[in-house]
Amino acid sequence: MEKDLEKLVSLIRSSKNMTVFTGAGVSTLSGIRDFRGINGVYKEPWHGRNVEDILSLPTFRNEPELFYGWATEFVYCLERYEPSVVHRVLAKLEEKQLLKALYTQNIDLLHTKAGNKKVYEVHGSPAFHHCMKCKMVCTYAEISPMVLGGKVPYCDHCGGLIKPDIVFYSENLDEKLLNQGFSDFEKSDLVLVLGSSLTVQPAASLPMAAKYGGADIVIVNNQPTNLDSSAVLKFDDLKAVFEYLEKVL
Ligand SMILES: [Zn+2]
Repeated sequence: MEKDLEKLVSLIRSSKNMTVFTGAGVSTLSGIRDFRGINGVYKEPWHGRNVEDILSLPTFRNEPELFYGWATEFVYCLERYEPSVVHRVLAKLEEKQLLKALYTQNIDLLHTKAGNKKVYEVHGSPAFHHCMKCKMVCTYAEISPMVLGGKVPYCDHCGGLIKPDIVFYSENLDEKLLNQGFSDFEKSDLVLVLGSSLTVQPAASLPMAAKYGGADIVIVNNQPTNLDSSAVLKFDDLKAVFEYLEKVL
């Protein structure tokens, strides 16, 4: 592995336009449970309801207390978690201007907490919430205490239901963000895919654009991905790779 790690360092150092894509594997190192993995949160019913249902827009409109109840355990407890070695190294790489853009499937705000500025959250984020009627914006800090106190948040102005800016199952991803993503990945000369099995569409097709753009692709994931055969390097152990990078870079 040592030789491959040296090669990775040299790819990062010589890159002019590196883009990174991260998934749940990056956050499990911080103790956050994987959403869709083998022991995924998604597969466990919550009070007899399946999570896909709880996270669908029609259910949210009719029974918002279901989502907000579930979310006390899975969304409104982010203060408990600290950035992992992967988050820290990615923040360092951006600071050194070696990382152009960071796209993530995660909704835990840990990349931002680690210090990354150019974070693009393709599945949205709970940092902001919107009133579904008048579009008034609220922050995580405003909403979180209400939710943890067992209340469903409603708008102060119009009484509308407030929804976090997380992409629910029946919702489309932000098209503008996706187009920007395709362009960023296509222009990249180096792409790191970290802790994602690239199974959830359409976000998972973003790194595919890198392949068409001719980038060197490096994958670090403990499961196979559909880009493995196009990768110049493939590692299994995120923690080991990033502990090495933290020492060397
Ligand atoms: Zn409102």
